[in-house]
Amino acid sequence: MAINPNHKILFDPISIGPVTAPNRFYQVPHASGMTEANPRVRAAFRATKAEGGWGVVSTGAVSTHPSSDDSPLPFARLWDDNDIASHAMSCDAIHEHGALAAIELWHGGAAVMNRSSRIAPYSPSGVPWAATHVGFMGQQRPRIMTQADINDVISWQVAAAKRAQQAGYDIVYIYAGMGYLGYEFLLEDYNKRTDDYGGSVENRVRFVRQLIEQTKQAVGDKCGVALRISLEELRAKPSENFASQAHHVVSLLSDVPDLWDVKMDSSPTDCGASRFRAEGAHEPIIDFVKQVTDKPVVGVGRFTSPDTMVSQIKRGILDLIGGARPSIADPFLPNKIKFGRSDEIRECIGCNICIASWHDGVPIRCTQNPTIGEEWRKGWHPEKVPSSGSEDRVLIVGGGPAGLEAALTAAKRGYHVTLADKADYWGGRLEFETKLPGLNSWGRVRDYRVHALKQMANVDLYLGSELSYQDILGLEHQRVAIATGGIWSKALYSSLEIPLGSLDGPGVYTPDDIAAGAVLEGPVLVYDFDNYYLGGVLAEALADRGLEVSYATPAGHASAWTIMTNEQPFVHQAMDERDISVHTQSLLQDFDGSNCTLANIFTNKEHSIEAKSVLIVGLKLPNDDLYQQLMARADDFGDARIKSVSQIGDCLAAGAIVHAVYSGHSFAQGLDNEDQSNYLRDIPVALHPPSRAF
Ligand code: ADP
Ligand code: SF4
Repeated sequence: MAINPNHKILFDPISIGPVTAPNRFYQVPHASGMTEANPRVRAAFRATKAEGGWGVVSTGAVSTHPSSDDSPLPFARLWDDNDIASHAMSCDAIHEHGALAAIELWHGGAAVMNRSSRIAPYSPSGVPWAATHVGFMGQQRPRIMTQADINDVISWQVAAAKRAQQAGYDIVYIYAGMGYLGYEFLLEDYNKRTDDYGGSVENRVRFVRQLIEQTKQAVGDKCGVALRISLEELRAKPSENFASQAHHVVSLLSDVPDLWDVKMDSSPTDCGASRFRAEGAHEPIIDFVKQVTDKPVVGVGRFTSPDTMVSQIKRGILDLIGGARPSIADPFLPNKIKFGRSDEIRECIGCNICIASWHDGVPIRCTQNPTIGEEWRKGWHPEKVPSSGSEDRVLIVGGGPAGLEAALTAAKRGYHVTLADKADYWGGRLEFETKLPGLNSWGRVRDYRVHALKQMANVDLYLGSELSYQDILGLEHQRVAIATGGIWSKALYSSLEIPLGSLDGPGVYTPDDIAAGAVLEGPVLVYDFDNYYLGGVLAEALADRGLEVSYATPAGHASAWTIMTNEQPFVHQAMDERDISVHTQSLLQDFDGSNCTLANIFTNKEHSIEAKSVLIVGLKLPNDDLYQQLMARADDFGDARIKSVSQIGDCLAAGAIVHAVYSGHSFAQGLDNEDQSNYLRDIPVALHPPSRAF
């Protein structure tokens, strides 16, 4: 199909210093959980983005020196010449598809703890980066940099830039954002120096200016030199002669870098979850930059709609459309637009499982794109699948995230697929969950797959079809996947997560009851030891219904695991806005129909709160009766011509949507390829001797 003429502008080349990006799709630096230990994983992951049409493909943070050591969080490095080879592998792979390769050189300053290198962290004035110390339990305070330290950091940047050029990178970054060293110099709260690097905005900008100028001097004839800068806090700071300190800083550096990469300040706002941040949420902070510089500007905003992207360019906000999450959810987003197939874009849902995998210290995972990070390890590709290995017909029971993904991938492979669900809608749990506060865009998991399945001739879709094991035995499908989801239990847990039995009786509910339309009497206690989003979201939803709501959890925060997905600060804000009283470190001991007894998890001290209803969001168990009934008839499989029966998604092991989609994909990849689902290509050790330790 031809490109929509309205989208043509997105494919205009643009110069970035001495290099030219082939189009406006710029995969900005983002965490991928891939380090020097897995160069092939990294190269294949980035090559796929370049193959999908991203004109620039960037690394995540690449440390210039062991004094920028974020361990145990994953990061890459260019500490000495030994590190060049693994980067060259990525550059070659990106160049093969005609894209430019960019490297985000990075010094973490006081925002890293140097846990491995044990070097006292660097900072302008000894002020620790708050998030690092509060969130990640760092205890060492940073050193106050001397002039010699400043010179060292600049020389490490320059040396790394030269190595980057040698490795084949086309664009080299200076990083002055997100709490890292360059940014700390820009902010008066962190920079209290009285020398040439502190005090006035001109002085505070000096360190970043020197980093840019010296990088340009070193590699600027061959490489574009980009400045990545956070502007949120600076924009909130008043300035005497400018609209804000952000305006002043950008004006001072206006044409110094070849490219401005502009962003927010902290991960929760920069990589905001869709629950709390809409597409394009950065615009009010970064909208002025193009008016102050003649250099190209790239920025992000979880852009997935080509019309929004075009509008960003036409309205003079951005020159290049930055994508991190959109490029993860759909590495082929640019090509789909180019070939007039925008309706096939697998849009990011903004769930932030991708950033959670970085916090977990593992290669990237994505709810929408189960192949991400598995390009090398499993040989998976977001668009191409191996053809079917037989004429087997595939029956999938349950059209939630797991069943839909299994059906789509099996059908793409060429199998004849039958997908049946007892409900009169597709999407399983999504039907209910996407109607809860902030979760609407998660429906894209369903919509993308249903849209694709409806186009396919080898797929039969049946709604309103509850299948029994007898039905399945009679359907003459050789491969059967049971994707019947999970059931929330009423189990209670102790502080040691030892089951304490369950709480039942009138007034006790689970999320399944709410989904089925239960009307709760207030006041309500939401007792959450699932600790991901659902308990918090349901508390919000019940409060929105006008009920008085309390929330209790054994954890230290509400929706404790959402710290991994950048949601937690906003969860607490959302609860506060709704007057939901939050009881942390609390175990639910008892409920007598009008009061709940909560006990402190550490002291057992009890207190009572009024509640007529209790909603337990705790342990979800597989809804596997159908699977068990079918397996009890395994002796009949031969006559029924059934070759295999699999449990997938929540029916196997209840989890987040990312787990269900992965499970469905893995099942379909494994058809007639039995090793595939558990197959991991060896993760190669470093290609070269480890860098010198300091
Ligand atoms: P997952 O996240 O693992 O995909 P969901 O709970 O979202 O799980 O979806 C499970 C789906 O299975 C639901 O849509 C439910 O209606 C459907 N289902 C459950 N039992 C049957 C059955 N016996 N026959 C057909 N569909 C079923
Ligand atoms: Fe988007 Fe979620 Fe995938 Fe991240 S994990 S790219 S937020 S869909």
